[in-house]
Amino acid sequence: MSNTNNGFYGEFGGKFIPETLSFAIEELDQKYKSIRDSKSFQNQFHQVLKEFVGRPTALYHAKNLSEHYGGAKIYFKREDLAHLGAHKINNAVGQGLLAKQMGKKRIIAETGAGQHGVATAAICAKLGLNCVVYMGQEDIERQSLNVYRMKLLGAEVKSVHTGSKTLKDAINEAMRDWVTNVNDSYYLIGSVIGPHPYPLMVRDFQSVIGFESKKEILSVENKLPDYVVACVGGGSNAMGLFHAFINDEKVKLIGVEAGGKGVDTNQHSATLVKGKIGILHGTKTYIIQDEDGQITETHSISAGLDYPGVGPEHSFLKDTERAEYVAVTDEQALKALALTSKLEGIIPALEPAHALAYLEELAPKLSKDNIIILGMSGRGDKDINTIMQNMSL
Ligand SMILES: *Cc1c(COP(=O)(O)O)cnc(C)c1O
Repeated sequence: MSNTNNGFYGEFGGKFIPETLSFAIEELDQKYKSIRDSKSFQNQFHQVLKEFVGRPTALYHAKNLSEHYGGAKIYFKREDLAHLGAHKINNAVGQGLLAKQMGKKRIIAETGAGQHGVATAAICAKLGLNCVVYMGQEDIERQSLNVYRMKLLGAEVKSVHTGSKTLKDAINEAMRDWVTNVNDSYYLIGSVIGPHPYPLMVRDFQSVIGFESKKEILSVENKLPDYVVACVGGGSNAMGLFHAFINDEKVKLIGVEAGGKGVDTNQHSATLVKGKIGILHGTKTYIIQDEDGQITETHSISAGLDYPGVGPEHSFLKDTERAEYVAVTDEQALKALALTSKLEGIIPALEPAHALAYLEELAPKLSKDNIIILGMSGRGDKDINTIMQNMSL
C-alpha cells in the first residue's frame, strides 16, 4: 500500500486536535498501523465483506445510458447492491472490527443522511457493541426512515440542536462525547475526514471498491478505463474508487460535488470547486467559509453531500491536478436520477445522481471505445420522500 506520510497529503491533512484527544488519537494511530499489514485482520475483514456485505459488488455495463449519450461505454460500480444499500458499510465493518480488537465496548458515530448511522448500527449489532449515533435535528426530520432503521438495529439516536442542526454539528457533538468517554468509547467516523489516521484508514477500508473495479474491468474489457467518476461529499466513495487507479496516470479521475442551487449562489456544498483552505474537524483541507474564516451554511438536495469540508487527500489531488473536481446542481442531479431509473431500471441515491448528471457533459464527447467507470455509491430508497417532493410524475 502507498505511504502514510504521517497523515499529510502535501500541505493537507494532519491532526489538529485538542490536548484531551491526543492520547486517543495516538492509541488509534498505533493500533491501526499494527493491523494495516496484519494478514489475520485483513482476512477477517474480507471474510465479513464477503458474507455480511455481499462483496464483490457487480460492475454493470449501463448499455442503454451509453447508447442514449452516444459516446463512451459507461459502467456502474454497484455499491447500491452492498448490504443496506450504500458503500458506507465497508468502512463501518473495518472500523467495527478494529474497535472490537481494541477492547472498546461503546461506539460513537455521527450521521448526515443516516446511511453511516445505519451501517454503524448494523456492525455494532453483529459484533455485540453498544452504539450511539449523533444526528442533526434537521436531518432527523429529513431521514425518518433511517432513524427508525438505526433504532431497530439497537442503536441510540441522539438529536443535535446546535448550529445548522446537520452533519457538521453532529460531528462536533460526537467529538465532544469522545473527549468525555475516551476510555471505553471508539469514534467511528463515516468518511475520509477528521484527524489522521481517519482519512487514511477510511480510504483503505473503502479502497476495496476501486481494486474490485480494476479487476472487473480488466476481465471484461482487457484494459483500464479512461475515466473514473464519483460523487464527493466527505469523499469516501470517491477515494475508495480512485485509490486503485492513482498510479495509472492515463486514467482520469473526476469528483462531482453538490452545486445545490448553483455555485454562484450561497446555497451549495461544492467545497473543492468554491472553498478556501482552512482547518475543520481536525484536518487541514478546503472548506466552505466566509472572509473571516467562519464556516458558512451549505445546501444540497442530497443530505449525504451536505458538508462544508472534504477529505484532505482530495484537496491534495485537486492542487496537484491528479484529479479534477466539478459541480452539478440539484436540478441536474434530479434529472439524471429520473433518466437512469427509466433507462437502466436502477433508482440511484441522490448522491451518485450528481456523478450521473456529469455524464451528460462527459460521455457524448468521447468515442465508443472510451470507458467510464461511475461509482454508484448507493440506492435511492432512502431518498424517495425528497424525490417525490421535488419531482411530479
Ligand atoms: C454518505 C454517502 C455519500 C457521500 O459520502 P462520501 O464520503 O463522499 O462517499 C455518497 N453516496 C451515498 C450513497 C452515501 O450514503
